Amino acid sequence: MLSLLLGAALAAAPAMTNPPLLAPWPGPFGGVPPLAAIQVEQFKPALEAGMAEQLANVDRIAADPAAPSFENTIAALERSGRTLDRVSRMFGVWGSVLSTPEFEAVDTEMSPKLAAFSDRITQNEPLFKRIEAVYQAREASGLTPEQQRLTWLTYTTFVRAGARLDAAAKARVAAINERLASLFTAFGQNVLAEESTQFTLLDQEADLAGLSPATRAGMAAAAEARGHKGHWAVPNTRSAVEPFLSASTRRDLREKVWRAFVTRSDHGDARDNGKNVTEILALRAERAKLLGYPTFAHWSIEQSMAKTPERAMALMEAVWPAASARVREEVADMQAIADKEGAGITIEPWDYRSYAEKVRKARYDLDEDEVRPYLQLEKLREGMFWMAGRLLDLHFTPAKGVPVYHPDVRVWEVKDGKGKHVGLWYFDPFARPGKRSGAWMSAYRDQERFERPITTIVSNNSNFVKGKAGEPVLVSWNDAETLFHEFGHALHGLSSNVTYPSLSGTSVARDYVEFPSQILERWLATPEILERFATHVKTGQPIPAALVKKIEKARTFNQGFITMEYLSSALVDMKAHLAGATPIDPAAFEKDALGALGMPKELVMRHRLPHFNHLFSSDGYAAGYYSYLWSDTISADAFEAFLEGQGPYDEKVAARLKQHVFSAGNTVDPADGYRAFRGKDPGIGALMRRRGFPEPAASPSAPAPAK
Ligand SMILES: [Zn+2]
Repeated sequence: MLSLLLGAALAAAPAMTNPPLLAPWPGPFGGVPPLAAIQVEQFKPALEAGMAEQLANVDRIAADPAAPSFENTIAALERSGRTLDRVSRMFGVWGSVLSTPEFEAVDTEMSPKLAAFSDRITQNEPLFKRIEAVYQAREASGLTPEQQRLTWLTYTTFVRAGARLDAAAKARVAAINERLASLFTAFGQNVLAEESTQFTLLDQEADLAGLSPATRAGMAAAAEARGHKGHWAVPNTRSAVEPFLSASTRRDLREKVWRAFVTRSDHGDARDNGKNVTEILALRAERAKLLGYPTFAHWSIEQSMAKTPERAMALMEAVWPAASARVREEVADMQAIADKEGAGITIEPWDYRSYAEKVRKARYDLDEDEVRPYLQLEKLREGMFWMAGRLLDLHFTPAKGVPVYHPDVRVWEVKDGKGKHVGLWYFDPFARPGKRSGAWMSAYRDQERFERPITTIVSNNSNFVKGKAGEPVLVSWNDAETLFHEFGHALHGLSSNVTYPSLSGTSVARDYVEFPSQILERWLATPEILERFATHVKTGQPIPAALVKKIEKARTFNQGFITMEYLSSALVDMKAHLAGATPIDPAAFEKDALGALGMPKELVMRHRLPHFNHLFSSDGYAAGYYSYLWSDTISADAFEAFLEGQGPYDEKVAARLKQHVFSAGNTVDPADGYRAFRGKDPGIGALMRRRGFPEPAASPSAPAPAK
C-alpha cells in the first residue's frame, strides 16, 4: 500500500521520478554529475521535463509586462534552461561512451522532438520582439562589451533560425528541422552499424604477412569477439583498417580491406546512405533559401571566422597545388621502390599507405616500434599536466569521491597557481563496447559567474587498448599528439573566464575552436617534455636526441597524402553545399567534383559522402570541414609567436595566449581576439612551412578576417 501511494506521488511529480538527472548535481565542487546513478530509461522523461520547464520559463519571459531589457530578456534566457542543459549533456555522454540499442532507440525518438522544441523557442514571436528591442538599443543601454556580444549572439541565432519569417515559412523551417534530425540519426546509425558489424575474416597465417605481433593479437581478439575463434578479423573501422593497409604485404587482401572501408554505407542496401545524403542536401538548400541565403554554405559560414564560402575556398585552393604536386612526388618515390622490388605493379590507393611506410624506412630510418617504448600513456599525462602548469598556470591533483560511469575513468581537480579551485578533468582513455571510436573532449559543465561562480567540468576520451593489469600502455607518436590535442580542448574549457554560459569555453566559432587544441600539439616535441616524460618503459632513460631528430626530420613526410585526402573531402563538402537546389546524387557528384579538381587517382577522399559523419550526422561540420585547415593555419602562425620570442615556454607570449585566446571564450570576435594576441592577422606562410610546402608566390594572408 505504501509503495503504491509512493508510486502515485512520484508519477505526479516528474522531478522526483528522475532525481539523478533532474535534480541539481549533488556533491563537492559545486556539484558533480551523478554518473553512477543514471539509467538509460531516465533520459526520455528527464528530457521531456527539462523541455517543459524551459518552455514555461520562456513563455514567462515573452509575456513579461515590463519593457524589454538585457536583464529581463537576454540574461533571463541564459538561465531558462538549466535543467535541460544538465540532462542534454548527460544524454550526449551516454551517446558517445555508453551507447546501447536501448539508448539508440531513445535517441531516435528524442532527436526530432528536441529539434521541434528548439524551433518553438526561436519561433516565439513576442520573445523575438523583445530580443530585437534589446539588440537595437544595445550600444546605448550601458551594457558591458560581453553583454553586447551576448545580445548580438542571441539575436543573430534567432534570426538565423527563422525568427523573422512569416508563419508559413516558419512552419516549413520547423518541418525541415524535424525531418533533418531524423535523417541525421539514421545516417549516423547506418555508419555505426556498418563499422561495428562488418569485418574481413582471414583464415590462415599466410594472410597475416607483414603484420606485427600486436596487430595480429588484436585481430585474433576481434575475430573471437565476432564468433570466429582461431581466425583473424579486420573490423571495418579506421583504427583497424589503417594499420592493416600500412603493414600488410598481401596486396590482394589490402585491396579487399580497402574496398570494404571506402564503400561503407554505399551498397544499395538498408544501410546505404545515398538517399539520406540527397535528401539532407536538398532540405538544407531549401531552408537556406527560406532564410534568405543563396545556399546552405553561405548560411553556415556566416558566423564563423571565415564568414564567406569564398574565403574558405580561397584558403583550400591556395594549398591544393602544393599538396597535389607533393602527391606526384610521393607516388614517384613509391613507384621507384615497387619497380626496384620487381613488384610489377602501378601504385593504387590500397598500396599508398604500405609503400609510404617503405619510403619512410628507407629515407628517414624511422621505425614506429623504436619510438613506442618511450611513449607511456601515464607519463604523457604527467607531461601534459606539467605543460598546463607552465603555460596556463593550471595544476592537477587527483580528486576523491567523484562518481564515474566506469572504473577506468579517473578524475583530477584543477587549481590555479594561488590554489583556487578551477574545475575538474575526467580521463576515460580505453576502448570499450558502446564507446564511439576516435578521441574527443566533452564538457559536462561550462564555466560562468553570472548568477554565482560555476566552475568547468570537462572530460578527455580516447580508445587505447588496455594492457594487462599493471603494465604500462604504450602509444604511437601520432596518438601522443592526439592526446595533447584533446587536452588542448580541455584546457580551453578550464581556462575560461567569462560571465555568461553561452559565451564560455569552447563555445567559439567552428573554424576557431581547433586552434587552441592544434597549437598545444606542438609542446609534445619540446625538449622540456621529452626529457622528463618520454622515458623508456624498461630503462627509464629519456628518448635519445638522435631519435627525436629523426622524428622531426620525418615530420613533413607524406604531407601530400595527408593534406590531399583531407582537402578533397573539405572541397567536396563545400561544393555540395554550394550547389543550392540542384538535386545531388552523391556518387555522381563526388566523381564530377573530384574530376574537376584534378584529384590524383592514387588516393581517395578521407571521408566519402555515404559515411561522412561530420557533414550528415548533424549540421555541426556541414560546409565546415575546411575548419580544420583554417584553424591549423592560425595555430601554425600563432606558434611562430613563441619561436619569435623566447621559445615554447616564453612567459609573455603564453600570458597573451591565455588572456586573448584560452580564457576569452566567445566574448570577442575571434579575428579581434587573435589580433590582440599576435599583433597582426594570421597568414598562410607558417602553415606551408610546417607542412614542408613552398609558399605560394603571392602569399595571400588567406585567413585574414573579413571585417
Ligand atoms: Zn579537436
